Amino acid sequence: MWERPDATKQARIRIARTEAEALVQSPRLLVGNTSCRVEILPDLEKAKQRCFHCLERGHLAQRCSGADRTAMCVRCGSLEHRAKDCANELKCIRCGGNHRIAALGCGLRTADTQVVINAR
Ligand SMILES: [Zn+2]
Ligand SMILES: [Zn+2]
Ligand SMILES: [Zn+2]
Repeated sequence: MWERPDATKQARIRIARTEAEALVQSPRLLVGNTSCRVEILPDLEKAKQRCFHCLERGHLAQRCSGADRTAMCVRCGSLEHRAKDCANELKCIRCGGNHRIAALGCGLRTADTQVVINAR
């Protein structure tokens, strides 16, 4: 918890998505004697980061510990051609969905949900 200039208090926690959803079911959460408002923060800033090494989102190539997919077609995951020569259907090799690999919103990690708790 820390004080914000408008004298409200805010805490951010990171929990699994299912827990976060359970938490926001109750519009008011009691922390001590303070009733708090709970919101789920979409991890947009993080999701905007795109790694050129493994093609996934949420980190940058310098911090990548994933597979080297630099030669991979981002449309179908093939190593035989690049996306500009791709004649296959779009298929995300990460989640199997109908989008380029790790498109924005692809397989949002369930264990990485940021929750904001506002106290007044
Ligand atoms: Zn990476
Ligand atoms: Zn392809
Ligand atoms: Zn996907």
